[in-house]
Amino acid sequence: MSASFFTDDFKNTSYWWDRTPLVAKSSLPLADSVNSDTVVDVLVIGAGYTGLHAAIQTARAGMSTVVLDAEAAGYGCSTRNGGQISTSIKYGYKALSQKFDDATAKDILATGQASLDYIGEFIRTENIDCHYQTCGRFHGAHSANAFQTLRKEIDAYNPVFDNQAYMVSEQDQRNYLGTDAYFGGAMFPTFASVDPGRYHQGCLAVAQKAGAKVISYCPVIDYKRRNGVFTVQSTQGVVRAKQLIVATNGYTGSLTPWHRRRVIPIGSYIIATDEIDDQLMHKIMPSDSMLTDSRKLVYYYRPSPDRKRVLFGGRVSLNETNAKKSAVLLREELVRLFPELSNTRVSHSWSGTVAYTFDSLMHCGENSGVHFAMGYCGSGVGMAGYLGRCIGESVAGVSSEHTKLPLAKINFPTKPFYTGVPWFLAASVWLYRLRDKLT
Ligand SMILES: Cc1cc2nc3c(=O)[nH]c(=O)nc-3n(C[C@H](O)[C@H](O)[C@H](O)COP(=O)(O)OP(=O)(O)OC[C@H]3O[C@@H](n4cnc5c(N)ncnc54)[C@H](O)[C@@H]3O)c2cc1C
Repeated sequence: MSASFFTDDFKNTSYWWDRTPLVAKSSLPLADSVNSDTVVDVLVIGAGYTGLHAAIQTARAGMSTVVLDAEAAGYGCSTRNGGQISTSIKYGYKALSQKFDDATAKDILATGQASLDYIGEFIRTENIDCHYQTCGRFHGAHSANAFQTLRKEIDAYNPVFDNQAYMVSEQDQRNYLGTDAYFGGAMFPTFASVDPGRYHQGCLAVAQKAGAKVISYCPVIDYKRRNGVFTVQSTQGVVRAKQLIVATNGYTGSLTPWHRRRVIPIGSYIIATDEIDDQLMHKIMPSDSMLTDSRKLVYYYRPSPDRKRVLFGGRVSLNETNAKKSAVLLREELVRLFPELSNTRVSHSWSGTVAYTFDSLMHCGENSGVHFAMGYCGSGVGMAGYLGRCIGESVAGVSSEHTKLPLAKINFPTKPFYTGVPWFLAASVWLYRLRDKLT
C-alpha cells in the first residue's frame, strides 16, 4: 500500500458523521426523563430508523414512549449506510408465489412498493432536509449471463406494481456510468437516494417533537414481564413499560435470544474518496443515479450528495475490524471499475452490521408479547422506517392501510443449532465468490 493511499485527515468513521455528528454523551440521562415509579406505555429498544418510526406512531397516538439506545441514537446502520432506497424485496412475483399463497405473495410485493413510497412521503411531509432524490439506480451486469438473467427479471410478470425498469445495452452504458466493466445493466428509475445521517437526524427530531424520550448511551441488559408489565433493566436504571418493541436489527444480541436465533449479522464495508474534480466526477458518474451490480457479493456506490466524492461499499470481509484493511479491498474494485481513480486517496473507511435472514425477507410482528421489526438483509433505508411505522401503529391500535402487515403473518425462520453466531458464513461467502466468478 503506497503512503499516499489515505488522506492525511483519514477517518475510520462514517463520512455522514462529519456532516451530521451523533448526539453527545451527556445529552439526556434516563433519570431526567423517566420517573422510575411510573409505567410508560411503550419502551423501544434501538434508536435507528425502525425504532424512531415506531416511536413516532406511538407518541403521536398519545402513548408515553421511551426509546433507549446502547450507543448514540443512530449509531447502528442508520447513519452508516449508502443511502440507496429501493423496494427492498429480493424476490419477484414468481419466486414469492412458489413459496406463499397468491395473496401473501402480492402483499409482500406491495409492502416493498409501500416502503419506497412511504419514505419519500414522510420526508416531504415532515420537511426533512436530507438530499432525498428520486434519482434512479443503475444495476450493472457483471457478465453476459447476468445481463440475460436481469432481462428475465425485468420482463417477469408483476401483478402489483410497475417499477418502470428498463434494460441498458453495453453500448449505451456510458450514458449512465463511466465504465466498460459491465455487460450493460438495468435502470430502475423510481429508486431514490438520501443523506442517511441527515435523514436519521430528521427522524429523531420528529420523534422528539411527537413527545418520545430518546435516551442514548443506555444499553438494555435485561427484561422480565409480570402481570402484563415489562420491567426493563438498563445501565442507567429501570424502566417499567406496558409494551416493548425490539428494533435492534444487525445489533441484536443475547438480550433477545429468540430474535438473535433468526438474524444473521453480516459486516458491510464502505469508503469515501478524497474530493475529485467536477470533470472527472461527470465522466465516471454523469448523473446522481445510485449504482449497484449483479454479483451476489454486491458492490454499491454513488456520488456524495455534493458530487465531490465517491462512496463505495461492499461485503468485502466477514469480520474485518481494521478499516484500513477493508479500504484496500474496496478501493481495488473501485479502481478496476474506474482506472481514472488510481491516484485518488481514501478519506473515510467504516463498516456496520446488517441483519440477513434465512429466507432473505425482513420480518415483523410479535413474539411472547414483544413486538419487533428487523432482518432487512442490507436493504433497510426505506423498509426499516416503514416497518417501524407499521409496528408502531399496530402497538398503538391505529388502523390504517399500512397495518395489514403481511410480513407479520409469515414464519420468521431459524435453523437447528443456530444461536446467532454464523459459523457457516465463511463457506457461504466462498461459494458466492465462486458463483460470481462462474456466472
Ligand atoms: C455500510 C452499510 C451500508 C448500507 N447501505 C444501505 C443502502 O444503501 N440502502 C439500504 O436500503 N440499506 C443499507 N444498509 C442497511 C440499512 O442501513 C439498515 O437496514 C437500517 O439502517 C436498519 O435500521 P434499524 O433501525 O433497524 O437498525 P440500526 O440502525 O442498526 O439500529 C439498531 C440500534 O439498536 C441498538 N441496540 C442494539 N442492542 C441494544 C440494547 N441491548 N440496548 C439498547 N440499544 C440496542 C444499536 O445500538 C443500534 O443503534 C447499509 C448498512 C451498512 C452497515
